[in-house]
Amino acid sequence: MSRKTAIIIGSGIGGLALGVRLQSLGFNTTIFEKLDSPGGRAYVRRVDGFTFDMGPTVITVPHLIEELFSLERDAAALAEPDFPEQILDPNNRIKTGVSGGPNTSKYVKIIPILPFYRIYFDDGTHFDYDGDPDNTRRQIEAIAPEDLPGYERFHAAAKGIFDRGFIDLGHTYFGDALSMLKIAPDLVKLDAIRPLFSFVKRYFKSPKLQQVFSFETLLIGGNPLKVPAIYAMLHFIEKTWGIHFAMGGTGALVSGLAHKFQELGGVIHYNSEVNHIDVVGNSFSRRVAKGVTLADGAYYAADLVASNGDYANTYMKLIDAKYRLINQDARVKFAKQSMSIMVIYFGFKAEGLNLNLRHHCIILGPRYEGLMRDIFDAKILSQDFCQYLHIPTLTDPSLAPPGHHAAYTLIPVPNNASGLDWSKLGEPLADKALTFLEERGYIPELRARLAHKSFITPDYFETTLNSYLGNGFGVEPVLTQSAFFRPHNRSEDIANLYLVGANTQPGGGTPAVMMSAKITAREIAKDFDVSDAIVNGVGGIRVTAR
Ligand SMILES: Cc1cc2nc3c(=O)[nH]c(=O)nc-3n(C[C@H](O)[C@H](O)[C@H](O)COP(=O)(O)OP(=O)(O)OC[C@H]3O[C@@H](n4cnc5c(N)ncnc54)[C@H](O)[C@@H]3O)c2cc1C
Repeated sequence: MSRKTAIIIGSGIGGLALGVRLQSLGFNTTIFEKLDSPGGRAYVRRVDGFTFDMGPTVITVPHLIEELFSLERDAAALAEPDFPEQILDPNNRIKTGVSGGPNTSKYVKIIPILPFYRIYFDDGTHFDYDGDPDNTRRQIEAIAPEDLPGYERFHAAAKGIFDRGFIDLGHTYFGDALSMLKIAPDLVKLDAIRPLFSFVKRYFKSPKLQQVFSFETLLIGGNPLKVPAIYAMLHFIEKTWGIHFAMGGTGALVSGLAHKFQELGGVIHYNSEVNHIDVVGNSFSRRVAKGVTLADGAYYAADLVASNGDYANTYMKLIDAKYRLINQDARVKFAKQSMSIMVIYFGFKAEGLNLNLRHHCIILGPRYEGLMRDIFDAKILSQDFCQYLHIPTLTDPSLAPPGHHAAYTLIPVPNNASGLDWSKLGEPLADKALTFLEERGYIPELRARLAHKSFITPDYFETTLNSYLGNGFGVEPVLTQSAFFRPHNRSEDIANLYLVGANTQPGGGTPAVMMSAKITAREIAKDFDVSDAIVNGVGGIRVTAR
């Protein structure tokens, strides 16, 4: 029996994870990637002896990674529990030894990072968040003792949301409105629908603590003032399984996934941009994806096509309008795109420096709510900003030449619906951010010590990563774009067309895109009637067309 063939457009973490899963389901899978190496947002920039992860740096839920590295050819385990007992301590405490796992460690070494984040306030004081309730209580007491009872209640509320929203429903595919309606009462009961910032304000009076317990959504493109409080689960996810770092950088994890995919027989073509998804049928008959055409005109046929690319770009640029009844241009354009970011990559001489920083630093600005409104609503570039400063060489010196540090600082900015001209604004903002780090004493004499500086702006996301309006994180995670209302992993318009990654269910961030790969693989397994034997992981293969 000949195997069914699959094409995946894009080798982001979601595309690679889906590739691994499809190989384990018995498909012959080919990935076409526009860039010259894998990772997408997790692409690696190697320059002047420095290694910079361009995107994700905070690794959570390492069990999801271990699961991917444990898959074998023709032996998918889609029906096993998503969160087996050995990784879910009944008290939801971090378990030692979950960082790597035996299969992960064959490809990449993953270690825990403490504290998770050092959060600096504009007055120079800081909060070290490490998930340890006692440490957290001690620091709350120092800032606002009156908020201690609020913390206990917040903790309990966030746990309720984590248990239902992540453990029970994290891998659920909301393919129809009914599936959404079924969970709506639970979400209301858990108060998970109200905006996160308003939820957090119910428990904390101190503006500093309100920021500490809401900023995390910015790392996946969500406005704390607008994302639903279901995202309070992030706090609990971090607390439960910790925050981790891949030695060698996130790029080492990406390379590991690409190797795993190839070891399972998958094929990746780099420098291969897909220009067109070829569809047959018409608005009156069943429309079926048949293959893809690359920018150089080469045509590849397959039994199914999955796009790991941007949602808006996939539908509006790759598929002729006549095949799209649901995802028409007007609907796609109506979707809210996430904010964008400016990221400045820099290397500096470490000699004689006594850095009092941590691996992950959040540097908050003088304003929080006002700044969020400027970025997400008014779409203007404010004079003030907040930053996420990443210094991986505090953990892994191999990422810089001897005697140097490698770092990046990330500044949330409006997406390109703003009309801002980044060719003029980029350089001054990069200089302003580095000057700020020097003058506020975070990195003394930074400009004199500088050995490398480069940056990306929203234009990089728009032109290099093909992301509509230069969005940094896909469609914005707001209530009206969550679960059933988020772009569907199984196309509503075209049979045998699937989506995977940050734009789809359940959402953005590296754990979520790995979960989206599992959700998409499950839909494919159903559609192609992959036998129960393989879904249950006991071997054997029978793949028939739907
Ligand atoms: C700066 C930054 C920091 C972040 N930090 C974190 C973090 O610390 N922790 C965390 O969990 N998440 C973080 N995120 C979010 C996380 O990186 C993303 O959610 C995730 O990596 C997205 O993966 P993806 O699979 O959806 O695809 P992407 O990474 O978006 O990859 C899509 C791929 O498709 C390719 N492609 C697009 N169109 C085509 C085409 N037509 N033909 C061929 N190829 C195409 C692109 O080149 C790209 O390689 C961060 C994101 C950014 C930008």
